Amino acid sequence: MFELNEKIRNLKPYDPVTGSYQIRLDANESFVTPSQALREQMDEALCHLHFNRYPDPYAVELRQAFADLYGVPRDCVMAGNGSDEVITVVMNAFLQKGDTVVTLAPDFSMYGFYASLVECKTVAVPKNADCTVDADRVIETVRREKARMLVFSNPCNPTSLVLARETVRKIVSSVSALVVLDEAYMDFSDQSMLSEFAGYDNLLILKTCSKALGMAALRLGFAVGQQKLIDALQAAKSPYNVNALSQAVGTAVLLSPAYLASSVQRILESRDELYAGFCRLADAFPAAALEICEPAANFLYIRTPRAGAIFEALKAAGIIVRLFDGALRITAGRNYENEAVLRAAEDFLKGADA
Ligand code: PMP
Repeated sequence: MFELNEKIRNLKPYDPVTGSYQIRLDANESFVTPSQALREQMDEALCHLHFNRYPDPYAVELRQAFADLYGVPRDCVMAGNGSDEVITVVMNAFLQKGDTVVTLAPDFSMYGFYASLVECKTVAVPKNADCTVDADRVIETVRREKARMLVFSNPCNPTSLVLARETVRKIVSSVSALVVLDEAYMDFSDQSMLSEFAGYDNLLILKTCSKALGMAALRLGFAVGQQKLIDALQAAKSPYNVNALSQAVGTAVLLSPAYLASSVQRILESRDELYAGFCRLADAFPAAALEICEPAANFLYIRTPRAGAIFEALKAAGIIVRLFDGALRITAGRNYENEAVLRAAEDFLKGADA
């Protein structure tokens, strides 16, 4: 009988929300849709595809468009099928069985998942009670564990907090491990290390088209780092990892800097409106002890002992958000979506206090 091996036997698949809900604020997606003009450029890009041919293995035009948008050299950029795939290639390339990976907790859960598939040990450094990062503790753990890799998101998913660039610099320059800095949400904040990646031989920065660029369906992610690191990733990835449709449409999107700027502005307005609304609820219903992290990304992280009950109440109202142990993560949506989630939360809190 064929036996599953140990690393796969107890692996639980990632469990995204499925089912149909009127309002989906669970996956940190963008609610912005491309303008008519950009839509036409995207359609036009598809018209010229040679569907019988394999895509460009090095995704040169796509990487060039990314490089131009973010002001980095193309040779220092690798493209992948979502940053999820980029993380797997990074781990395949730079880790060996038995290596140690340091992560933070809470942070994006997939880091530990992928590390387990390359048979590495994960050590998670807990965050402070207020969800901030103790940089000295991180550095100390990486050194003590002789970790080969440190990986974390900034701004953080799920807390939405951003770590100051100065602190990130300190961490990167204090360890010899490869630091994989996931800046999936950095378009919403201003502490990016992209402009200084070239100064560190142990820094890889991850980016995605799934958040501020509103292109989660395309599955496009990028890694930026010194050329030695990027050459290694290009060698380790599968040859045609980014399909031709995504390359073509993604290039058109990345060549439209105005789209990114206006999307970010609209999303931040929505996020601030949602944040203000939940701050009002926190004041109005002290018994619910809502503690809202100051958001730096397109979502809120709200700690409350009533997280489970609020989650169920929102779900009953047709609104899906993300539930964590003692916390909710709510993506900023369209005006009416934010209003609906605030109304449903308020109704629940009123009922609970009555
Ligand atoms: N990193 C972080 C921090 C994320 O939150 C996500 C998506 N939730 C990803 C990476 C993966 O993004 P994608 O594969 O869509 O590029």
